[in-house]
Amino acid sequence: MKILCIGRNYGLHAKELGNEIPDKPVIFSKPDTALLKNNEDFYIPNFSNDVHYETELVVRIEKMGKSIEPQFAHKYYSHISLGIDFTARDIQNELKSKGLPWELAKAFDHSAVIGEFVPLENQNIQDLHFELLKNNQVVQSGHTADMLFKVNDIIAFISKYFTLKTGDLIFTGTPAGVGKVEIGDQLVGHLEGKELFKFNIK
Ligand code: ZN
Repeated sequence: MKILCIGRNYGLHAKELGNEIPDKPVIFSKPDTALLKNNEDFYIPNFSNDVHYETELVVRIEKMGKSIEPQFAHKYYSHISLGIDFTARDIQNELKSKGLPWELAKAFDHSAVIGEFVPLENQNIQDLHFELLKNNQVVQSGHTADMLFKVNDIIAFISKYFTLKTGDLIFTGTPAGVGKVEIGDQLVGHLEGKELFKFNIK
């Protein structure tokens, strides 16, 4: 399986990092070794002093597809979750300033946290509220209506370049409010009020 991620998909988050609003989706990927699930502890890697949480809606692909049209994209998923796209911001800033790829900052081991997957049922995927609590304080509060590129358009876009396969995960970008994690923090993710992950930073 592969993990594809969208950068700068919420206007306020793009601005908080000083980035332009993109006219096409910004895509990067993480290997399967980036996954962290089942509420396992996250250990801050020793190569960064500024690891940030980015809470994101995660879509799980459930059948193979290539060059999917936006109006058919909804047939390729039925379960969603919340995840964290952990980012070594210090490394990312250095790479960005040199125009280099982001993998060392974004794709390291356990940088892709996923929570419990829940069926989408009859909900509109672009009308979901989610939030991240750090040590019981809400630090990110997002609404999927604010995505610059909607889920079905993202699937259409990325499937032109990458064949999507069963089990692939799409991280759909983070709203404003990203910040640093410290040893001892606890992160809890809520989607429409339901807790989908709760884990500790070590
Ligand atoms: Zn992200």
